[in-house]
Amino acid sequence: MTLDNTWFSEIDPAAGTAFSLKLGEKLVEEQTPFQKIEIYQTETFGKLMVIDGCTMVSTRDNFLYHEMMSHPALFTHPDPKRVVIIGGGDCGTLREVLKHQDIEYALQVEIDERVTRLSEEHFPELCESNDDPRAELYFGDGIEWMARAEPGSVDVVIVDSTDPVGPAEGLFNQAFYESVFRALGEQGILVQQSESPMLHLPILAAMHGAMRAAGFVDTGMINFPQPLYPSGWWSGTLAFKDASLQPRYADVDVEKLNTQYYNADVHRGALAIPNFVRQGLSSEVVDN
Ligand code: SAM
Repeated sequence: MTLDNTWFSEIDPAAGTAFSLKLGEKLVEEQTPFQKIEIYQTETFGKLMVIDGCTMVSTRDNFLYHEMMSHPALFTHPDPKRVVIIGGGDCGTLREVLKHQDIEYALQVEIDERVTRLSEEHFPELCESNDDPRAELYFGDGIEWMARAEPGSVDVVIVDSTDPVGPAEGLFNQAFYESVFRALGEQGILVQQSESPMLHLPILAAMHGAMRAAGFVDTGMINFPQPLYPSGWWSGTLAFKDASLQPRYADVDVEKLNTQYYNADVHRGALAIPNFVRQGLSSEVVDN
């Protein structure tokens, strides 16, 4: 919501918090069959995409999220070739995935085509790999797609979705994780955006529990800063079919990847779980 015409504020009433950006012009306001999309010019964060009142992407800080949702999982799978992104319609995660030359195929399953078409127009830098011959854009429901996926056909699944309400609600439960488990190969990895460890710890704990109940033998988390999202501290939850996998730090070549945040040291640090988070996740999380 907007407090007045010159500021956008994402208010989280349950947490009693808000994050605000000083706005320039409103560029887009569109109600799609799935959600309301708005795009603003901001004074200091470039362009801002908002879906159903929640901040999604800004020009200035999206690299944090997109790099951390992609590279830690891809540098932990021993030989990732086939990647499926659920959601991710701004295409920033797809761009990061395709920086890995060994990837043969990356499919983005986004429910709302308008998110992608508006991103092509307003965030062209995020969409620069959409024409890569290894990329495929499919517009449909990620829950349905995953339920029909060929068993063992995917190496890494990245769930880059909106919060667990509306069309994304069914991406955060055991039934969906069972579909992902089936679709993944023996060394398959799932990574899913999992909200703020500061504000949403019960959501994270429930995710770890549901992933394990779906058959994953190990779960973990990655932490990273994200000024745009509530509390400024965000997480990805990882689920493994093979508990012996270790990050391939020696393979991280930052010059080739051309990342702004991610490197091997950041990857190591991102796996550290603070005490209160470990406690909140209780027995669901084991050491990374
Ligand atoms: N980085 C963002 C965040 O954490 O808030 C997510 C950005 S991306 C724009 C999220 C996308 O997930 C949206 O475009 C939305 O349409 C898509 N989405 C939500 N539910 C979905 C579903 N069931 N299947 C596929 N895509 C879905």
